[in-house]
Amino acid sequence: MSAYIHMVDECSVDWITREMSDSQMLKIPYYSEVFKIFLGYRQCYSKVPGAEKDMSKEEANQLKELYKKHVVESVLGENKFGKTVDWLHFDSIDFYYAKDSEEEPSYELKEDPTLSDKNAAAEKMYKYFASLEGEEEFLGFLRYCKFIKGHVNHQSPIEHGTITFRLTDVSRSLTHQLVRHRLASYSQLSQRYVGEKGDLAVVIPHKILVNHPAQEIFEAHMQRVAEDIAKLRDAGIKNEDIRSIYPNAITTQIIVTMNFREAMHFISLRMSPHAQDEIRDVAWKVWNELNTFVPFVFSDIKIE
Ligand SMILES: Cc1cc2nc3c(=O)[nH]c(=O)nc-3n(C[C@H](O)[C@H](O)[C@H](O)COP(=O)(O)OP(=O)(O)OC[C@H]3O[C@@H](n4cnc5c(N)ncnc54)[C@H](O)[C@@H]3O)c2cc1C
Repeated sequence: MSAYIHMVDECSVDWITREMSDSQMLKIPYYSEVFKIFLGYRQCYSKVPGAEKDMSKEEANQLKELYKKHVVESVLGENKFGKTVDWLHFDSIDFYYAKDSEEEPSYELKEDPTLSDKNAAAEKMYKYFASLEGEEEFLGFLRYCKFIKGHVNHQSPIEHGTITFRLTDVSRSLTHQLVRHRLASYSQLSQRYVGEKGDLAVVIPHKILVNHPAQEIFEAHMQRVAEDIAKLRDAGIKNEDIRSIYPNAITTQIIVTMNFREAMHFISLRMSPHAQDEIRDVAWKVWNELNTFVPFVFSDIKIE
């Protein structure tokens, strides 16, 4: 039986969370994730006097429109950034209460507080945001989230937001690294029930692709493996045992769900120059997706 190899050098990604947002007529990618994080942080200050308010449907819809206006339309270029949304990009803006100040937060770094000052600032902000209503509260929350995420590590509400995506044409070598991230959930194509039919699809690493002699060695090796797979199949061996001779380069598909806190961790480790090219490319794609639609969480990630 003859066997051919098919080499790929770029994976494709389906952004399932984004697509689901559209199909549910929300039309605002990731808004439900943002809203859950908002409710999470809001829960934390709900015992502050003045904050025991329920959210009406009307208010919830207003917030949806607001997020659309300020984030999604802006990043999609349908709406020019206005003054009020400059801070959403957060490139250089930081904010604190001035130490011991009773004023409203100015969102400017007025001094360099100690850790306890940061906690005091966070507590004052709780009270301040609890006193706001509707649009103001929501915008305040986005700033607050950015602040405490970076400065007082109150990150658990970010776990209410999740991303689900499917990777196609990635190597087993990539997925083996990926699944080491224990706090994410995975569903991967079975090698037992879905065996290679004869042809072998493999991911060729970029550094081998651009080095002609290395590419020839890679290709010849994969051709031999493809032929041996076919021979084992002809000898009546089942997929569950044939897979023992599969190379790490073999392609696979995997669906991944990560909460945003784990996604931050994944991105910071795997976008790093220390990470391997293929997983680095995936981490970059995930960051680009999340930074586009949820910039208040992902715009300031520190790469390891
Ligand atoms: C450049 C690079 C090289 C690597 N090389 C190797 C290698 O040679 N060999 C190898 O085996 N691995 C290697 N790894 C994988 C690495 O050791 C981790 O398994 C992988 O990066 C997952 O990261 P994590 O454990 O921090 O995160 P996750 O599993 O994503 O967990 C997130 C965080 O949750 C916490 N956590 C999760 N589970 C536990 C637990 N059981 N106990 C305590 N805290 C927990 C930790 O704070 C952890 O950082 C490498 C990773 C990178 C980025």
